Amino acid sequence: MTSMAEEVIRTTCSYCSTGCNLEAHLQDGKLASLRPAADYPVNLGKSCPKGFHLLTPFQSPDRALTPLLRRERGGPLQPVEWDVALDTFVSRFQGILRRHGPESVAFLSSGQIPTEEMAFLGALAKFGMGLVHCDGNTRQCMATAAVAYKQAFGFDAPPLSYKDFEESDLLVFVGANPVIAHPIMWNRVKMNPHNPTIVVIDPRRTKTAEAASIHLALNPKSDLTLLYALANILIQEGWIDRGFIERSTEGFEEFRTHVSSFGLEMAAAETGLQSSAILDLARRIHESKAASFWWTMGANQSHQAVRTAQGIINLALITGHIGRPGTGANSITGQANAMGSRLYSNTTSLMGGYDFLNESHRLHVAGILGIDPETIPRQNSWPYHRILQGVKEGVIKGLWILATNPVHSWIDKSSMPEVFGRLEFLVVQDLYASTDTAQLADLFLPGAGSGEKNGTFINSERRIGIVQKILDPPGQALPDFEIFRRIAQAWGCGPMFREWTSPEAVFQILKRLSAGQPCDITGIRDYSMLLEKGGIQWPFPAGSDPREATAARRLFTSGRFFTANGKARLHYEDIAPLPEAPDAQFPLILLTGRGSVAQWHTQTRTNRVKMLRNLYPAQAYVQVNPRDAASLGIGDGDPVKVSSRRGEIEAQATLTEEVSPGQVFMAMHYFETNLLTFPAFDPYSAEPSYKLAAVKLARK
Ligand code: SF4
Repeated sequence: MTSMAEEVIRTTCSYCSTGCNLEAHLQDGKLASLRPAADYPVNLGKSCPKGFHLLTPFQSPDRALTPLLRRERGGPLQPVEWDVALDTFVSRFQGILRRHGPESVAFLSSGQIPTEEMAFLGALAKFGMGLVHCDGNTRQCMATAAVAYKQAFGFDAPPLSYKDFEESDLLVFVGANPVIAHPIMWNRVKMNPHNPTIVVIDPRRTKTAEAASIHLALNPKSDLTLLYALANILIQEGWIDRGFIERSTEGFEEFRTHVSSFGLEMAAAETGLQSSAILDLARRIHESKAASFWWTMGANQSHQAVRTAQGIINLALITGHIGRPGTGANSITGQANAMGSRLYSNTTSLMGGYDFLNESHRLHVAGILGIDPETIPRQNSWPYHRILQGVKEGVIKGLWILATNPVHSWIDKSSMPEVFGRLEFLVVQDLYASTDTAQLADLFLPGAGSGEKNGTFINSERRIGIVQKILDPPGQALPDFEIFRRIAQAWGCGPMFREWTSPEAVFQILKRLSAGQPCDITGIRDYSMLLEKGGIQWPFPAGSDPREATAARRLFTSGRFFTANGKARLHYEDIAPLPEAPDAQFPLILLTGRGSVAQWHTQTRTNRVKMLRNLYPAQAYVQVNPRDAASLGIGDGDPVKVSSRRGEIEAQATLTEEVSPGQVFMAMHYFETNLLTFPAFDPYSAEPSYKLAAVKLARK
């Protein structure tokens, strides 16, 4: 029985995009325990280690407690009151904008903050402050999937429900390692009662590959060739769904012509796979009743990423494995609220899934928000790498970075301190003033963590889950939402945000923005309905049957997509050469990815949890195939130098068959890794290609 002094508060985990729900049990107002919610339809009573320790980093003694100001370059960051911080924020940024125009100040935000905060930030910056160039760290993970879906389906709409993991008889994972990266999703795969065949397409023998029925260890970045070859076999053999192609797709004849040159022998030579293995996979797709295709960063973070994602989408479309239980071309999102960012951050697209370049969209959004349409930019923002280039070129002179740490995470990052040094004014808003990026700030604003504020996240299956305050933020730290409110007042655009009084008030604004869009959520009454139903997947338009709110819902069940004619578009392209192929000087291919289930991104939070730190190596390590190690005279545990054309780092060698000869692997979480990566970007999504660089290795 619950005593009077016990309180239970539910929230959604703010690490990965799975969107697990956790229950905080408070005794006399103090946190007694945090447990996975047993009845939540996502995690069903389970959590990974990060979730169990969700609140621990927020209680870290080194949280930033006050705003901090560096009064002169080279001087220390010193505590100041909020009014001084806000005055400085406004006077410095307004001064830059007055002197250099609206393109001279930008922000870089995060997929880790609630949707309501993202929306407020995007609206404040673009409509209130008059900025043009704004982006977020979702560019580093999900931009590819967003663009791929938009081009193919007419809207950024991942079709899946997690129930599909349990309903497929064939699951094909491309560049995805859910055992490590999305363990609770993998748990759903393990619950599949159909004895499914699990195929992993990945150069590395990851933990997921080890657990799979079939591992296709293809050559790095030969995935698009494999996907086209598979399409060619399916078409040649007649293993396609002609009715679905006719009714629901366009561009098939051109696609058939394009892939006809991807013969089995050529594909085998390019991918390094056996012809029989490629043929076998095509046959399995054909024979499957419900095949599902899943991808994440191995496909998204590539120099030809959008076409690779669409290569996966095309397989689902031509075989009709979409819109039915256990099927779909399903991108698994990275960060907790990357999906919220894609819909509402007002960076790449106008909030609500609209288009900055479309006048009627601008008028529509302005009408809903009650603002002057002229305040809405008529141009698209520069993407992340172009913003950084703008800083380098001196076009961008003021930058506001929120809840992300690019000095650690950006590709080929060695020049980042120097690039940020060119700014006239750098503001960083985060939990800790000690991050690599915060240390360069002129002004630091202390934000609150997800356990200290309210809002919602949207997970990989489009489920809107509630985020609730459990703890008070320490010192003078404030929820980002409150910081934006204070900035709006200080900036002089407070009246524009009269209605933006609380996260829940903004949720009602987001509902209005969604009306009539594919992401329509006008049928969700309020936060209490989200709590009651265990989160709700979009779409959920007004008039929806409330019983449907708890059902597992997937998109495209009618075979109609969000394009003007309702048909999905097949996209394809010639294979692009590797941006940096290995050669005599740098003969090894560096692969990067997640290291362990206990680590998250730049380790800003996970490194502050002893129980998690105990689960992974403290220092950077490099996985090397024993054959390569023998030829280089390297033993297991030896200190080694890893060099690329961008830099040289030290790491500990780990000898393992997980990587093939000619390849090495480093986990993304260590500061050293991105000193080596090669700065290539997908031409459509501008997502960085973290997964391939040429390096060499030597014993230290
Ligand atoms: Fe959090 Fe993801 Fe772990 Fe679930 S699987 S507890 S959402 S980090």
